[in-house]
Amino acid sequence: MSHPGVDTGSFELFLSSLQRFVKHRLIPLERYVEEHDQVPPEVVQEMKELGLFGLSIPEEYGGLGLSMAQECRVAYEIGQTSLAFRGVFGTNIGIGSQGILMDGTEEQKRTILPRVASGELLMAFALTEPDAGTDAASLKTQAVADGDSFLLSGTKRFISNAPFADAFTLMARTGGSGGEGISAFIVPADAKGLSLGNPDKKMGQRGTKTCDVILDQVQVPAQNIIGGIPGQGFKTAMKVLNRARLHLAAVGCGMAKRALDESLTYARERKQFGQPIGQFQLIQAMLADSQAELLAAWSLVKSCAKRFDALPAGSPDPSMRVMTSSAKMFATEMAGRVADRGVQIHGGSGYINEFPIERIYRDVRLLRLYEGTTQIQQVIIGRTLMKDVDVVS
Ligand SMILES: Cc1cc2nc3c(=O)[nH]c(=O)nc-3n(C[C@H](O)[C@H](O)[C@H](O)COP(=O)(O)OP(=O)(O)OC[C@H]3O[C@@H](n4cnc5c(N)ncnc54)[C@H](O)[C@@H]3O)c2cc1C
Repeated sequence: MSHPGVDTGSFELFLSSLQRFVKHRLIPLERYVEEHDQVPPEVVQEMKELGLFGLSIPEEYGGLGLSMAQECRVAYEIGQTSLAFRGVFGTNIGIGSQGILMDGTEEQKRTILPRVASGELLMAFALTEPDAGTDAASLKTQAVADGDSFLLSGTKRFISNAPFADAFTLMARTGGSGGEGISAFIVPADAKGLSLGNPDKKMGQRGTKTCDVILDQVQVPAQNIIGGIPGQGFKTAMKVLNRARLHLAAVGCGMAKRALDESLTYARERKQFGQPIGQFQLIQAMLADSQAELLAAWSLVKSCAKRFDALPAGSPDPSMRVMTSSAKMFATEMAGRVADRGVQIHGGSGYINEFPIERIYRDVRLLRLYEGTTQIQQVIIGRTLMKDVDVVS
């Protein structure tokens, strides 16, 4: 069944509130977030009231029930301010909860999703391990059957929002080798035997926290396996990431838009040789390249999202996989180039923390790494094309 999302009138109203929130509330707080390395708690509460924690969760489970196209529009707006703000609710609406929505039992959906949508329950997604990053199917965290429960032991690495999370969607090995032996568990953060490492000292994205999640014989009921059937967890994780990539591509477009806006403002104000630097054709060439690439990426994201909404939920359509990986790869690489040109247009000031472009340059670097590096997107696209999948038509 296709996904139309909420009606256009209601969505446009929601979007204009969000645009006002980004412009008048979040952008003025960017410096605070940089300096204090945290998003103020009152802003988190305001985000809950706006409905940002339930964007992608259907109305029947207490969310807003946006379509993918609508969610991408939201991601584009929120991308225009510090990445940390999106980080507050990003795992809740995306990788943290989508596995339950896609593959969970009806009972799991009914008991968990309304609390996720209201922001009462913060979810994180724990797949990566010290020795299993891109090669996630080789993960080592063990889940050993123990009566009606499993005992989980292992270490998860770089887990976004782990210090704030109330529960994790956590992938562990219940069976043999490879993806077939992996199950997705819902693990409460206060489970006995679960502890956190020190927060990672990151290049950017100040205001968010990532750290190790360490499991030592953590007892989790078998009924906490998403969907109730062991061995499906890797497929669930890949479906979740496939969708998340489209969201992240839209965030990349939003970040590029902000980088371009900052570049334009500077190019109009800064004078050299008696005129604004924006009058020089070499500066205009950088602005033009950035504008054209942004338009191309945003068009790609919008057309992918439209296609995504037209397919039945969770459809394994391989051409969709090529499209989401292409959008993630192209939009995040594009955002990197636009931010880099932005620093160049700012000259030495672009290297100084006083100007937003310096933060954008550091923040945007992450997009090419997490939720699948550019290289793994290339691998997915190339491998699928070799199976004679027709994508363009
Ligand atoms: C800030 C931050 C937040 C994160 N949040 C989360 C989270 O919430 N949950 C979670 O589970 N993970 C999270 N991650 C982990 C992230 O998804 C991984 O870092 C990412 O998937 C890459 O894995 P890796 O770091 O182990 O790199 P590796 O897999 O070791 O890759 C190193 C290099 O080798 C390349 N490479 C690997 N395999 C291939 C191949 N087959 N062909 C060509 N090149 C290849 C990669 O592209 C990369 O350039 C986060 C990471 C960061 C930095």
